[in-house]
Amino acid sequence: MNIAQRKFDVLVIGAGGGGLRSALQLSQADAKVAVVSKVFPTRSHTVAAQGGMNAALANVSPDNWHWHMFDTVKGSDYLGDQDAIEYMCRAASHLVYELEHQGVPFSRLDNGKIYQRPFGGQSQNFGGDQAARTCAAADRTGHAILHSLYQQNIRAKTHFFDEFFAIDLIRAEDGMILGALVLEIETGEPLIIEAKTTLLATGGVGQLFRTNTNAHINTGDGLGMALRAGIPLEDMEFFQFHPTGIAGRGMLITEGARGEGGFLVNKDGERFMERYAPHAKDLASRDVVSRAISTEVREGRGCGENADHVMLKLDHLGKEVLSKRLPGISAMVQTFLGFDPAEQAIPVFPTAHYTMGGIPTDRYGQVVVPVEQGEESVQGLYAVGECACVSVHGANRLGGNSLLDIVVFGRAAGNHIIDYLKDNRYHRPLVSDGIDMAMQRLARWDKKGKGESVAKMKDEVQTTMEKYCGVFRTQDVLDEGVKKIMELEQRMADVRLQDHSKIFNTARIEALELENLVDLALATVSSAAARTESRGAHSRIDYPDRNDAHWLKHSLYYKENNRIEYKPVRLKAMTVDTFPPKERVY
Ligand SMILES: Cc1cc2nc3c(=O)[nH]c(=O)nc-3n(C[C@H](O)[C@H](O)[C@H](O)COP(=O)(O)OP(=O)(O)OC[C@H]3O[C@@H](n4cnc5c(N)ncnc54)[C@H](O)[C@@H]3O)c2cc1C
Repeated sequence: MNIAQRKFDVLVIGAGGGGLRSALQLSQADAKVAVVSKVFPTRSHTVAAQGGMNAALANVSPDNWHWHMFDTVKGSDYLGDQDAIEYMCRAASHLVYELEHQGVPFSRLDNGKIYQRPFGGQSQNFGGDQAARTCAAADRTGHAILHSLYQQNIRAKTHFFDEFFAIDLIRAEDGMILGALVLEIETGEPLIIEAKTTLLATGGVGQLFRTNTNAHINTGDGLGMALRAGIPLEDMEFFQFHPTGIAGRGMLITEGARGEGGFLVNKDGERFMERYAPHAKDLASRDVVSRAISTEVREGRGCGENADHVMLKLDHLGKEVLSKRLPGISAMVQTFLGFDPAEQAIPVFPTAHYTMGGIPTDRYGQVVVPVEQGEESVQGLYAVGECACVSVHGANRLGGNSLLDIVVFGRAAGNHIIDYLKDNRYHRPLVSDGIDMAMQRLARWDKKGKGESVAKMKDEVQTTMEKYCGVFRTQDVLDEGVKKIMELEQRMADVRLQDHSKIFNTARIEALELENLVDLALATVSSAAARTESRGAHSRIDYPDRNDAHWLKHSLYYKENNRIEYKPVRLKAMTVDTFPPKERVY
């Protein structure tokens, strides 16, 4: 088959904040950049980010990057790599100002400075009073950032392939990445995009769980591509459950709602967070608040007919504060629940939200894999954003640190690639084996299949993950989860595309996404079954304590034989002293 081919210096797969920030850096340096996205760029999931982006601007409370670094290390339950965390927190203020100059309309204080709200896990002076570090554009911060970055990319002449689906990376025999095979969704025509470097920025995999805050597009395609290219995934057992998803539906009520003064109550009207986190209360870090809500419900203090949720109270804040600071939340509650949060409390329950694990990278976005003497980079491959694991979030991400992560490491990867291109001016010849393997993946879905439908299988993956790999975990339950996902993997061989009179491309895309979900479900539940301690979002009832002597290490999951290896956490920071692991209290 004759497949169309295009050549670029850099192929960026993903047009969320991470991909667009990298592409902008590159296009402004006159590199020839292609950005591929399965949805129109401004529909990428970054658009949904609500509460804001952290930077120690000190506009509202005293602050500095070192305190931000401490909070992030502590929030990560000491699993974050401290050199990368230092790099991110140091860069934060500069990047907020840069975004402001690129057009992001941050909310303002009366003195004209950028408004900052308190978020969970933030403190002054290394664990002291609550800090206010999150820069917000009302509760539509991601929307503002994504649109500004898109417009800047148009200006810088980035080339966009809108609604193209990336199927697989194209690999040379020595492992170097030469580009990717993509599919134009409208026509179903494959296209080879050849590139001197490829950057994955495909976002997270919230669709692993039935109730989640993520868009339907968040199926972890980049992580699946990495696994198939023989690259391991780091720390997949750490999946964040956001404390305040709308109960039973999943839509997110930003942590900013508690930052503005909202609080949680149980069926007795008790502010129960005072028992779990006497100092930080409702603004303890997310893993702590999610566990507290789940415990309240399990112990019979839940609200509603089925006693299966708690209530988030915002009504005391008044209409004016809600319409100024949380207009999107107010509109969402009105639309989906039919009442005004200025008058009534919102039913909430922890909801799958954020992928802490991902493709292992260094702080320049280079994908790194273990070799006998440490690590080496995969030539021609970078990853940034939620699909990557730098690792700055470790076992638990702090709210407001992901929008920061995507711009900090998006820019860092862009800069590194610019240098790489200076020394690597020519394309390597494409290899037919690499193309054939990617084409085979597509060809598998040219037939309809006779077994269970894609939709049914997806539903089963999501309910299995919710049941067997949720907020609280035990060995028996996780082992059962591994078994069930392995059975599902076997049944994939005969999966049937949706019933259409002919095979629409969208049906094929859903099947390709499902394959990724199954691979990532197995990566997540297997990594969770292997880690016999509690740390951050990975909470084991049978191993309730953190065990630094044995488990202060990152997991690396390989698709081949469902194998897991480990590598040390980088405790050494860049210029400041290490924050040694200690008990984590809020
Ligand atoms: C509801 C919600 C609210 C949030 N609020 C905040 C917040 O206030 N502050 C904060 O710091 N973080 C927040 N987060 C987290 C943060 O928004 C995300 O982690 C971050 O935006 C991810 O950006 P990204 O660039 O990595 O990926 P995304 O924005 O998810 O973009 C992924 C891109 O990859 C493309 N893609 C994926 N697969 C393929 C494929 N196979 N082929 C082609 N293209 C593909 C998609 O089309 C898209 O363009 C929130 C998350 C959610 C769900």
